[in-house]
Parts: sequence; C-alpha cells; structure tokens
Amino acid sequence: MMMWALAILFLVMWSPSGCAQKKSFPSDPHAMETKSPLNLSEEEWRRKLSPEQFHILREKGTERPFTGKFYLHKEKGVYCCAGCGQELFTHEMKFHSPCGWPSFDREIPGDRILKKPDYSFGMVRTEILCARCGGHLGHIFNDGPTETGLRYCVNSLSLDFKKED
Ligand code: FE
Repeated sequence: MMMWALAILFLVMWSPSGCAQKKSFPSDPHAMETKSPLNLSEEEWRRKLSPEQFHILREKGTERPFTGKFYLHKEKGVYCCAGCGQELFTHEMKFHSPCGWPSFDREIPGDRILKKPDYSFGMVRTEILCARCGGHLGHIFNDGPTETGLRYCVNSLSLDFKKED
C-alpha cells in the first residue's frame, strides 16, 4: 500500500505539466508582457476611463492640438496604451512635430498597433489602434522627418507613461 502511495506521489511530482510555469527570458524586455486581447463592455470602459479618455479611445475622438500632456514631454521611459497598459513606444521613438500631438517614428516591435483605413471627414487616412484593447490611438502618416519616414500621430489621452528608473 505504501509503495502505491509513493508511486502516485512520484508521478504527481514528476508530471511535466509543471513546465508550463517556466518562463523564458527573451532579449526583448517588452516581450514579457501579456498579449491576450482585452474585451470590455462599453459600461466597463466608462468605469475604467475618464470621460475624456473614453471619448478618444472608444469613440475615436481627437484632443485639441498643442493641449496634450505628452506633446512637449521629454522624460525617458515607455509610453503605454491608456486603455490596457500595453507598451507601445519608447522615448527614443518620439520626435518633436509641429502638428501639435505627440509623434513617434516607429513602434515597439510585436504587432502591438493595428492600422486601418479611415475615410472620415472626407479624408483618406490610416487609423492606428491598440491591438490588445482596440483603443483608438490616432493616425499614422508617411511624412515623418526621420529615417523611417513614418509619423505616428497620437493623442496624449490615449497614452500613459512609465518613467525609466
Ligand atoms: Fe490597449
């Protein structure tokens, strides 16, 4: 009887399912983030976000130019989606743009940002959205001044900032 108990205990402890708990340590530190989609109801979003953030992120609004808290922001750190916290840009990707909104010339790799045609207001633009929560970030243009030629034009209200230690 004792032998059976020991054998069962051994099998349980040896079970390879424990491997699923092991984490790899990729060289890209941002790759550690969870990428599972975040689907909340409109009511849940209203509770989570300020009215201004809700309007921009969930109703595709646009904040007035030159008013956003990150337009002239120059601290070192990471810009995240204000809806779900996914890391989107670093300070190294930011550049000063006369357009009046925080601007970036590239995104953190990993398909974090969706691009979608936007024909609203009689214009042809490309909307950018957080791939994890679907939050509206702004638009992307191909008139950027750096080597990438890209300008991610983003609402400050769509972003949070994590200062570098
Ligand atoms: Fe998000």
